[in-house]
Amino acid sequence: MSSSESAATQAPGFARTRVGAVTVTTVYDGALPIHAADMHGESAQRITELLADGFLPPEGDPLTAVNTFLFASGGRTVLVDAGAGTSLGPGTGHLTANLRAAGTPAGQVDDILITHLHPDHAFGLLTPDGDAAFPAATVHVAAADAEHWLDEAAAARAEGVQAQIHRWAEQALAPYRAEGRLSTFDYGDSPVPGVTAVDLHGHTPGHSGYLVGDAGAELLLWGDTMHCHTVQLPAPHVVMAIDSDPAGARAARLRVLEEIRTRGWAVGGAHLPFPGIGRIRFRDGEARWVPVPFRPLTLV
Ligand SMILES: [Zn+2]
Repeated sequence: MSSSESAATQAPGFARTRVGAVTVTTVYDGALPIHAADMHGESAQRITELLADGFLPPEGDPLTAVNTFLFASGGRTVLVDAGAGTSLGPGTGHLTANLRAAGTPAGQVDDILITHLHPDHAFGLLTPDGDAAFPAATVHVAAADAEHWLDEAAAARAEGVQAQIHRWAEQALAPYRAEGRLSTFDYGDSPVPGVTAVDLHGHTPGHSGYLVGDAGAELLLWGDTMHCHTVQLPAPHVVMAIDSDPAGARAARLRVLEEIRTRGWAVGGAHLPFPGIGRIRFRDGEARWVPVPFRPLTLV
């Protein structure tokens, strides 16, 4: 590799973080744009100001992370979300390559916990040829999300991008359903030992968070509770055009922020800046994202 090639190539897309007893490997699927034009519930001027506070252009964040999270629980190798696969172009779909780089090829994943069935979280369940990208894994989805996105009548009624999301969801799950490797759960259940499903519905009907770790050192992994924390942490009432139920999405965001504040949970987010794990400092009515640094896992 020439020096110019190495300068144009990013480091392998994984990073490990220790939260209490759990070591989480963030595995990067890629980046996609989150557009300010899709943010609603606040004036365009205020959204532009908040983006500028984060040194982002008025159009939004052109390179928002798509993170997935890998950890061991109950003797199983668990992955939260599967990235975009081929659904959203070449900026995303790098999960399987980065899993290999992280030392856990896709074939070694036992369980995949899907936060919701939007394509940037679920279409990476497929290879580019349409086969199961995770040949040994069981896919776990909230019953409410599976019922909505796999419902043929709802798919027939849907229009535009919502209709496309139905098609993508059906395709992404098809090889797993065919082999009996799709499992659904309700909020409060433990789809795998040591992981509790958290109610974040609104963005989609079954949008779920996953709480891992021991009491006092817990990590909440979320999908799309925030698409752009630069805007939605100071202004959590801002909703996204893609929300199935904007009022429900807003209520879930406010509810979980209050729970994080009172319980002190660490947070990992699919669209928080890679590696997407940190804490939220609440002070004087304001909330500030404090990302984990890249650092050794043990003190030496
Ligand atoms: Zn997303």
